[in-house]
Amino acid sequence: MSDCIFCKIAAGEIPSNTLYEDDKVKVIFDISPATLGHALVIPKEHAANVFEIQDDLLAHAHIVAKKIAAALKEATGCKGVNILQNNGEVAGQSVFHLHIHVIPRYDDDDAHIKWTPGTQDTEGLDKIAAKVKEIL
Ligand code: 5GP
Ligand code: ZN
Repeated sequence: MSDCIFCKIAAGEIPSNTLYEDDKVKVIFDISPATLGHALVIPKEHAANVFEIQDDLLAHAHIVAKKIAAALKEATGCKGVNILQNNGEVAGQSVFHLHIHVIPRYDDDDAHIKWTPGTQDTEGLDKIAAKVKEIL
């Protein structure tokens, strides 16, 4: 994808502060970090989101995210780490090249990654479960 910023970063066409790189992924610091050490695992092959990416590449990217989380925890002394990935504008995605966020968490940090707990719609869930089982 010639106009994709993360394709360019992954290919080294735009310089980045690279934490880790192999033949399949590059890991960089987020330009607007939620907390100190916020990193992004970026697959080198373009896929817009989880609905498009190949299973083995996604699996590898998540294994790298796990290693980066452990390394960041040791390096920063953070108390916990959020690993998350947004798909679609409505879900908060702003760069449409799949990436995994690895966000170190500190006491009283300023990251707000928590939803308001809701209530279950049992009837609705039964219908969804039936459809999902059919699809799978
Ligand atoms: P999304 O909202 O798509 O889940 O996450 C996109 C992330 O990419 C944001 O956290 C944003 O700060 C980061 N980002 C956008 N453009 C750049 C860039 O050019 N360089 C880096 N390092 N991060 C970027
Ligand atoms: Zn791309």
